[in-house]
Amino acid sequence: MAAHGTIFGAMLEEFDVAARILSLEPGIWKILTTPKRQIIVSCPIQMDDGRIEVFTGYRVQYNITLGPGKGGIRYHPDVSLDEVSALAAWMTWKCAVAHVPFGGAKGGVICDPNKMSRRELEALTRRYVAEIIDAIGPEKDVPAPDVNTNAQVMAWVMDTYSMHVGHTTTSVVTGKPVELGGSLGRREATGRGVMIATRESAAHLGLDMKRATVAVQGFGNVGSISAQLIAQLGSKIVAIADWKGGVYNAKGLDIEKLLEYAPAHEHSVAGFPGGDPISNEDLFKMEVDFLIPAALENQITMKNAPGIRAKAVIEGANGPTTPEAHEHLHKRGVFVVPDILANSGGVTASYFEWVQDRYGYFWTESEVNDRLEAKMVQAFNAVSGMAKKYNIDMRTAAYVVAIDRVATVTRMRGMYA
Ligand code: NAD
Repeated sequence: MAAHGTIFGAMLEEFDVAARILSLEPGIWKILTTPKRQIIVSCPIQMDDGRIEVFTGYRVQYNITLGPGKGGIRYHPDVSLDEVSALAAWMTWKCAVAHVPFGGAKGGVICDPNKMSRRELEALTRRYVAEIIDAIGPEKDVPAPDVNTNAQVMAWVMDTYSMHVGHTTTSVVTGKPVELGGSLGRREATGRGVMIATRESAAHLGLDMKRATVAVQGFGNVGSISAQLIAQLGSKIVAIADWKGGVYNAKGLDIEKLLEYAPAHEHSVAGFPGGDPISNEDLFKMEVDFLIPAALENQITMKNAPGIRAKAVIEGANGPTTPEAHEHLHKRGVFVVPDILANSGGVTASYFEWVQDRYGYFWTESEVNDRLEAKMVQAFNAVSGMAKKYNIDMRTAAYVVAIDRVATVTRMRGMYA
C-alpha cells in the first residue's frame, strides 16, 4: 500500500517510531503494518426518484490477532480505502491500549447522508451489511457507529444480520439503542474516559482537580460529557468553543445550564448569557491547566501550537494534533494524552456492550461506570509506566504498549502453515 502523503502513511510513521523502540523483529513488523483483510463492495440502491445508484463500501479488518475486529462504519463522500485502512489500524492500537480482546476494523460507504432520505439510508445500510455479511459477526468483526451513523443505523445492521442468520444476534454490533441490547453508560463512556484521563493526568503532574482550570473545544457527545464530569470534580471549565463560536467565564461556566442551552441554540454554546464570547482561536491560547480538543481532527497545528499555554492536552477527539505540533508541545513540556488512550472509554464500553449481549445479562449503569473506571486507570498506568520506562512521550508510549501486546500474541500464536 502506498505510504507517503496518505492517511495510512501517517499511521505508519507513528507505528515506526514505537516499533523501533521495541526493536520489533522484521517479520512481526511486516505483519503489523499490513491490513489482514480489505473488502470492497458495490451496493446498488433504488433511490426515492426511481433512479438506481451504486454506492461503494469498504470493510477493513486490519488486525484480528487479539479477537474480533472492532470499529465504526462511516458514511461520508470522502471515504476511501486508504482512510478506512488507516482508521482500522488505529482501532487495532486503541483496542490494544484499552486492553479489550478485540482487533481493529473499520467500515465506510462513499455517500452523502445529508442528501439521502431515511428510506434510502436504511436500504443502503441493509445492502452494505448483506454484502459484507460473511465477514462480520460476534466472533468475527463487530461494527459500531462513526461519522454520520448512529444507534438507528446500528439497529438496521443488527436486524439485517439477524435476518440472514435466522435469529436475533444483538452482539454483532455495538452502539445500539439500549432497548435493543445497547449498554447503559455507553453514550457517556467516551466523555467519562476523558474525565478519568484528565484526573489521572492531574495526579501524574501533581495538580489538584479542585483547583484546575479547563478549556474544551467541542460541546457534542464527547466535549459536553467531559466538561460535565470534570466540573463535577470541582474543576473550573473556563472556556468552551464549537462550530459557531465560544463562551468564556474565568469563574467557571455553568455546565448544567449549557447542557440545556446548546440543544435549543443550534447545538452551540455561542451566545450563552453566563459568559463572554471567545473564538476557537483564542480558546487554544488560554492559560489553563487542561486543554481538551473534543471536536475535529487537525485542530492543533504548528499555526497555534506555539501559542498553547495549557499544562496538558487531553485528546478527546481523534487525531486533533498534527505530528509536528505534537513534537513541538512535547519539547515544550506540555503533557499530551493521546487520543488512543484519552478517548478509549468509548471502545471499552462497546466491549462491555458486546459482553452483556453475549451473556444475555445486563449491568446497571454504575456497574458499567465502575468497570470503565478500572479499565481506564489500568490503561493510563500502563502507558504512563511505559513513558517513564523509555523516557518517551505518552503518544509513543501508547503505541509501544499497543504494538507490544499485539506482537506478543502474534509470536505466541505462531505462523499458520
Ligand atoms: P459530535 O458531533 O457529538 O460533536 C462534535 C462537536 O464539534 C460539536 O460541538 C461541534 O459544534 C464541534 N465542531 C464541529 N465543527 C467545529 C469547528 N469547525 N470548530 C470547532 N468546533 C467544531 O461528535 P463527538 O461524538 O463528540 O466526537 C468528537 C470527536 O471525538 C471526534 O473526533 C470523534 O471521532 C471523537 N470520538 C468520539 C467518540 C464517541 O464515542 N462519540 C469516541 C471516540 C472518539
